[in-house]
Amino acid sequence: MNKIPSFEINHLKLKKGVYVSRKDVVGGEVITTFDLRMKRPYKDAPMTTGSMHVLEHIIATYLRNDKMWSHRIIYFGPMGCRTGFYLLIRGDYTSTDIIPLLERAYDYASDFNGDIPGCTTIECGNCYDMDLPEAINDAADYYNLLIAPKKYNLEYPPITEAEKEKSRRKYEREKKQQLKLLKEMQQENEQNNLEEQDKEEIVEENDSQD
Ligand SMILES: [Zn+2]
Repeated sequence: MNKIPSFEINHLKLKKGVYVSRKDVVGGEVITTFDLRMKRPYKDAPMTTGSMHVLEHIIATYLRNDKMWSHRIIYFGPMGCRTGFYLLIRGDYTSTDIIPLLERAYDYASDFNGDIPGCTTIECGNCYDMDLPEAINDAADYYNLLIAPKKYNLEYPPITEAEKEKSRRKYEREKKQQLKLLKEMQQENEQNNLEEQDKEEIVEENDSQD
């Protein structure tokens, strides 16, 4: 299987930022996928599910109501690793193009008070997993980056051939280690099964002697 482009970047060097993750052509039109990286992988604690859930509701709602961009917003949603969000926009854009939009959205989220949109059991699949104070902290932290981004906050860190090779070797080593463990576990299981069988046979023999 082909790796998707965002797995090809070095996550160990990734800073907080706004990155173009990929561009796809759909029906003759470009869709730009942005990586809104709010936490540095393996350096900052990932966001909590409660915080991300609130931000998903508030920021998705904001984006879909922004006068300039609402008609171009396709999707805003969380990354599984909880270090950021993906934003899909109709059109061919750079990170710099969307900074003002994100500034507005995260400013709105960091000041948010009132009812979280769509936060009812009818509208949402898990509306009790919401942490507004934490979401406000995370939004404010990212807003501080958005108002003064550096070049390295707007472009993915390049991954060198040597780094790719190193990561491949590490992966191979880990895979071998796992296979070895698995084999040991299987052998142990087989051994246990044999011992169980022996016991059962002895019991049967004893029974038949009675
Ligand atoms: Zn929800």
